[in-house]
Amino acid sequence: DVVRGRIADDSGIIGFLSWEPLQFDSGSLVKISNAQVKTFRNTPEINIGRNTTVEVFRDAKFSSMEDLSKNTVIKIEQLRDGSRDVECIVELSKITVREFQKQDGSQGKVWSCDVADPTGKCRMSFWQEPPFSDKDLPVIVSVTGARVRAWQGIPDITVDTSEQISVLEQPPWDSEINLVDHFPFVPLHELASGTSRVGIKTQGTVVSIREDSGIIFRCPECNRVLRDGECATHGEQEGVQDIRLRLVIDDGRASTSLLLNKQATVELIELNESQILERINDIGQIAFVQELRDKYLGSVVESNGRIIVDEQGSMLLAESSQLVDIDSVLAAQELRSRLEVMSS
Ligand SMILES: [Zn+2]
Repeated sequence: DVVRGRIADDSGIIGFLSWEPLQFDSGSLVKISNAQVKTFRNTPEINIGRNTTVEVFRDAKFSSMEDLSKNTVIKIEQLRDGSRDVECIVELSKITVREFQKQDGSQGKVWSCDVADPTGKCRMSFWQEPPFSDKDLPVIVSVTGARVRAWQGIPDITVDTSEQISVLEQPPWDSEINLVDHFPFVPLHELASGTSRVGIKTQGTVVSIREDSGIIFRCPECNRVLRDGECATHGEQEGVQDIRLRLVIDDGRASTSLLLNKQATVELIELNESQILERINDIGQIAFVQELRDKYLGSVVESNGRIIVDEQGSMLLAESSQLVDIDSVLAAQELRSRLEVMSS
């Protein structure tokens, strides 16, 4: 039988998997040599095999189990697809109840929630009725033993039974923060080399504006963009008109595709929907994109949204975007480097 568990030190916590019997209790301090680290669904895990030695270690200065257990509560930014036995504290802002047919024919229910903490946003699903309803929202909950599954880059914290939930009176963070409008700033290169995240803010210089920016038509069935009036799945369709921009932004260390939906486009280029349509009708989409290039290439754009990171690269889906005054960018960089000097 394999043994699974978690080990922690001051720097963090990691799961382990042992193919050999282990005779240590929780709270034992051990030294592990010659183990392997394997990654399963983006989550590193220590593998203890036949060639690994695990022995009792003594270090009076090592953090106590009590101190370390405070670190076992993980933040939304640390969630990874496939993680298990997750402990976290989040604020719930919205609940949707979905009914479905179970395999035995009876009716099942799942409670799906929008959740946030100061590091980002994600989803949470309860497979048993939670001890609160949408009229109690927002609520702060602490959950233990949860599983994480990600869908299109959005982590979903899955809670199987209501015993895993406790409702907290106060969040462990500053309760003045309105998490619904809170988008923590994460440098672009950090996002591009990390995993998918929701509810973040970042900045980059516009280095490219793709020519398929402007008016597009979407499939009424699946919302995907039609090519020559055809959906890859649903064939020829009467498209639903939409507006978007496709850019590439770069922070000097990494770049990402940036997709602006209609709302973010209107906000960035300061033209409303009918003004954009009128302009494209007047001069054509190619000239419209050229105008945008003349105006925005080299500008710094700040966007709120979510980023999907996979083998193909990264794509930031913006729900709001605005130009950043270059002077204030320089001032912020200067401030940041001064703070780094002060804190080092
Ligand atoms: Zn379709």
